[in-house]
Amino acid sequence: MARYTGPSCKLCRREGCKLFLKGERCTSGKCAFDHRSTAPGQHGAARKKVGEYGMHMREKQKARRYYGVLEGQFKRYFEMAEKMEGMTGANLFAILESRLDNVVYRMGLAASRKEARQLVLHAHFTLNGKKVTIPSLLVKAGDVVAVKEASRDSEKIKALSEGMATHVAPKWLDVNAADLAAKVLTAPTREDVDFPFTEQLIVEFYSK
Ligand code: SF4
Repeated sequence: MARYTGPSCKLCRREGCKLFLKGERCTSGKCAFDHRSTAPGQHGAARKKVGEYGMHMREKQKARRYYGVLEGQFKRYFEMAEKMEGMTGANLFAILESRLDNVVYRMGLAASRKEARQLVLHAHFTLNGKKVTIPSLLVKAGDVVAVKEASRDSEKIKALSEGMATHVAPKWLDVNAADLAAKVLTAPTREDVDFPFTEQLIVEFYSK
């Protein structure tokens, strides 16, 4: 399945909640969902009651869209989570949080995960000193993510890094704003996800 390239705000309307996909705009008075929260499409306003399957599916879609992950990859993450020790739902979110694009976003260097993904794809980062261009790469405790030396003078990076000093990073990341770098202190956990997902619904979706 191809990556969705349509309007991000439409995804929030589809999922019936704010997914915070557009950075500052999401918390400003310009958020489209705050003005129109009905589902997109001709019959969007007449949203029907969602059945059990729909409920499970929507929760999965919500998480997938929140992290900007394609269908197949999301399923692979679920299969990985199942094989890990502990609760599958919690493991799934720990994996999603460990993605490199999410780490860049959590460092405060990008306004959204989509922007973070672009920055990684454009080779602005290193992982443990080596250039990386794979947004889906999973980090582990001890890893260091940093802006590549050659990108430090880029006007875009300079502008994006301005908010880093005041950005509140999760406790599993030790962010050094002066160095444009962050060290992964521990693997993220479900508690580190600041969005009210009901992971059990996702587990049940894949268990059917
Ligand atoms: Fe969703 Fe509002 Fe952000 Fe658009 S601006 S992505 S509707 S939260």
